[in-house]
Amino acid sequence: MARQRLGKQPARYAFLLNPHAGIRLSKCPTCDRPTHPRKFALLIHADGWGPLAMGKTGKYCARCELIIVHKNELDAELAHCMATLAPDAVGREYVVLGTMDRKVWQKGLHTEGQSLAEALEHSAEFKKVLQLEVDWGGWRPAEESTA
Ligand SMILES: [Zn+2]
Repeated sequence: MARQRLGKQPARYAFLLNPHAGIRLSKCPTCDRPTHPRKFALLIHADGWGPLAMGKTGKYCARCELIIVHKNELDAELAHCMATLAPDAVGREYVVLGTMDRKVWQKGLHTEGQSLAEALEHSAEFKKVLQLEVDWGGWRPAEESTA
């Protein structure tokens, strides 16, 4: 059964939210090549607020189109952001849904903000979401459905 897309752009990127603060992932867990810092506008659904776009620097593997973000960093930055938007929603669950076009997102920072509908016009869900599993042999990526 087809699921309705939230973002209007074709799905882009793979995403990995790294819950292990001690694992830095300077190499891509999928192809073992060096990752590089890159800033993205992440589309996040926060419990108690709804969707929002937030700028976040993550690690990026261009070959795999994989964005890696540290969960503890994102937790802190989102809490900071929600403290202004919706103090009641601080510390609640959230889901990173996809990315928003950075140019559009930046433009929104300098105007009176964008409507959600406009933001979603320029957003793309992730193609897939990876999970980092730590086992005896170290870490390895495991795929998880985005559905
Ligand atoms: Zn890679």
